[in-house]
Amino acid sequence: MNTLIDNVKQLMEEAAKIMKLDPNVVRFLESPKKILQISIPVQMDDGSVKLFDGYRVQHSDVLGPFKGGLRYAPNVDLSEIKGLATLMTFKCAVAGIPYGGGKGGIRCDTHTLSVRELERLTRGFVRYTFEIIGPQHDIPAPDMYTTPQIMAWFMDEYSTLSGEYEPGVVTGKPLVIGGSLGRETATAQGGAYILRDYLEKQNHKTDQIRIIVQGFGNAGHYAAQILHGMGYKIVGASDSKGGVYHEGGLDPFSLMEAKKTKGRVDECGVGKKVSNETLLTLPCDILVLAAMENQITKENAAEIKAKTILELANGPITPEADKILEKNKVVIIPDILANSGGVTVSYFEWVQNNTDFYWSEAEVQARLKDLLLTAFRDIVEIHNNHHSTLRQAAFIRAFKRLSEAIRLRGILESSK
Ligand code: NAD
Repeated sequence: MNTLIDNVKQLMEEAAKIMKLDPNVVRFLESPKKILQISIPVQMDDGSVKLFDGYRVQHSDVLGPFKGGLRYAPNVDLSEIKGLATLMTFKCAVAGIPYGGGKGGIRCDTHTLSVRELERLTRGFVRYTFEIIGPQHDIPAPDMYTTPQIMAWFMDEYSTLSGEYEPGVVTGKPLVIGGSLGRETATAQGGAYILRDYLEKQNHKTDQIRIIVQGFGNAGHYAAQILHGMGYKIVGASDSKGGVYHEGGLDPFSLMEAKKTKGRVDECGVGKKVSNETLLTLPCDILVLAAMENQITKENAAEIKAKTILELANGPITPEADKILEKNKVVIIPDILANSGGVTVSYFEWVQNNTDFYWSEAEVQARLKDLLLTAFRDIVEIHNNHHSTLRQAAFIRAFKRLSEAIRLRGILESSK
């Protein structure tokens, strides 16, 4: 199977071809500007010292400081982080926010670390990357298995090293130390605003729309709650342990209760237990992918019954599967738009930190909705004008901003 970075490069090539973009711009954006690979020593609670591999990939700062999450997972590798960093550049450009793209990761299993070990690991990462991060240079955020608490330690260590209070060095912080209202739900909320806008234009009856949500973590469980609150029917959900399906509808709050008390959503007591693979292929109108990459591949794409897919996860559909779904007229609202609510509210958090003036939840929501619906409607127009997919249109919107900034800054000219 192709790696994420191969898939992203393929998407860049496709969009560039449609818009007849200067190939030098594509080549320039295919490689990250800087990669830092580190090995972080951590004293474990038993007194031994363990080394953890870490990465920070700074893909592009053409439109603003590098911006992107920090992932703690056992399968973190450089190729994955490069792919995610590149996607961040396009995501920020699509959303219309003044950031470039970056991503970081540490190869570790957070379940096997104590709280103190996790803190020492995080502070070690900050010390080893201190020279290349900063509120005007590179601003990390939470990603898989990193939490507001980890962001708080991150901010504290950076502030200690720099000698100044620097809340803007990282986003996704707890509220009391410079977090933003609405950040926790932002990814799901942004996707929900876009999906509702799309569905309203199709003139469907809200309560007849059946939704399956794959993944019940931060993005997925809030998506289920928000979409349920908007009046849609959640008929299926899953987490890594398994799925549950009920044509009559599921209550997302009961699903979350089952996850909290029994460790899995399929123990909610309603509906039929199904495997993760089966859940994706069951009847529904909308499939929300909120788990991880490569979930729909050429092996299962033809089995998908949904008419529309909302990609809250990054890279959940492979390019081969994309083609099969397109042939079957399945509309995909692509990751770089659908999940850009998270980084958009991260941007709001950073603005609030820089100005030391904090917004109400209503203000955050209004600005989020405005930015994302502007991006979405522009993408739909590009899609209509170029007869492209929405994914290609999103890349075209991003390329337009990036190539204009590259031209105005004279970045490629100066190399001649
Ligand atoms: P998370 O760790 O909170 O949740 C992931 C969920 O997916 C868990 O419930 C897990 O049990 C489930 N899962 C894992 N494998 C599964 C499988 N095979 N089938 C069904 N469920 C499975 O992570 P998250 O923060 O919600 O992120 C999910 C995805 O969304 C990732 O791709 C992430 O990069 C992307 N994303 C998240 C945010 C955000 O703000 N949280 C922002 C942008 C993109």
